[in-house]
Amino acid sequence: MSDEKQITVTSPLLPDLDEFNSMLKEIWDRKWITNNGSFHRQLEKALAEYLKVPYISLFTNGTLPLITALQAMRITGEVITTPYSFVATTHALWWNGIKPVFVDIDPTNCGIDPSKIEAAITPKTTAIMPVHCYGKPCDTKAIQEIADKYGLKVIYDAAHAFGVEVEGKSVLNAGDMSTLSFHATKVYNTIEGGAMVMQDEKTKQRIDYLKNFGFANETTVVAPGINSKMDEIRAAYGLLNLRQVDSAIAARRRVANIYRDALRNVEGVTFFDDMPGVRHNYSYFPIFIDATKFGKTRDRLYFDMKENNVLGRRYFYPLISEFSTYRGLPSASRENLPVANKIADTVLCLPMHHDLSDADIERVLKHFR
Ligand SMILES: *Cc1c(COP(=O)(O)O)cnc(C)c1O
Repeated sequence: MSDEKQITVTSPLLPDLDEFNSMLKEIWDRKWITNNGSFHRQLEKALAEYLKVPYISLFTNGTLPLITALQAMRITGEVITTPYSFVATTHALWWNGIKPVFVDIDPTNCGIDPSKIEAAITPKTTAIMPVHCYGKPCDTKAIQEIADKYGLKVIYDAAHAFGVEVEGKSVLNAGDMSTLSFHATKVYNTIEGGAMVMQDEKTKQRIDYLKNFGFANETTVVAPGINSKMDEIRAAYGLLNLRQVDSAIAARRRVANIYRDALRNVEGVTFFDDMPGVRHNYSYFPIFIDATKFGKTRDRLYFDMKENNVLGRRYFYPLISEFSTYRGLPSASRENLPVANKIADTVLCLPMHHDLSDADIERVLKHFR
């Protein structure tokens, strides 16, 4: 094992400690530490502006808005989703007693393949839950056309898509609702945290009730809600991080461009280029290994890098459809998901964050020279 410093796949964007301290002082002075406090309201307003969305509701993490969105829209029966994501996407369905139906992905963006959705629709289907994987926008237009034709709701797990825009418009406005994660590992973090984006005030109101036990006022509970409110301390941290997220994204873009220049002519390695008209957030840098051409399997490369303290991650391997809870589902078979299986077996996400030095980048790229 190398004794060089560990290069991790991500590194949390941290606010300035002195600035954070002075905001903590304000919270201490106010003695209002959660329940829609001042920083909570400020952060919702600032995020709605930054993200170019009409309404947003903050949550304690990125999993609860998924669960709550399904509750809010009374989604039942079967929901069509992708196996190529973080497990929380499918767990949210399970927690609502909904049967996940996996549909294969499109290799050009690793999102659900719209041309395969219709064949998976049954009389029990009520919604589609796609993921903007790696922050690469799904084909939202094609997905909406199918949803409209069959009367289905669309909930996007947009955990990777913070700040992503298509032709100057937020990708978070697609579908009925989108959810975000502000976990420490994401482009923008509030340590733990998340949000739901919605398109009208009535829905925002309903979600705000649901994330506070269903309380509409002191004496009225309108639904069996949950507790997923963001506290003042993390809202303050989030306000500070919002000021520096653009420079963090710019730093990530620089890393992505260096990786691309270096890897473009490496036999057996492919990766994504920027899409025209899209503002990317460079949340991940996945590469795909053709073992025959590269002369090494993905796993060999992964472990060789690890030996040198360079920690890539195999996002997303194994597929969600391979986990014990889900692998018995008919839609989880390898035959139903050939593209997702192939990508899961060949993908490696290289270290990608705002704090990578040129020397760090070189230590990553050494494995391709
Ligand atoms: C991170 C992530 C989540 C879960 O978010 P948490 O904030 O960790 O609960 C959900 N879906 C995807 C695709 C994610 O990457």
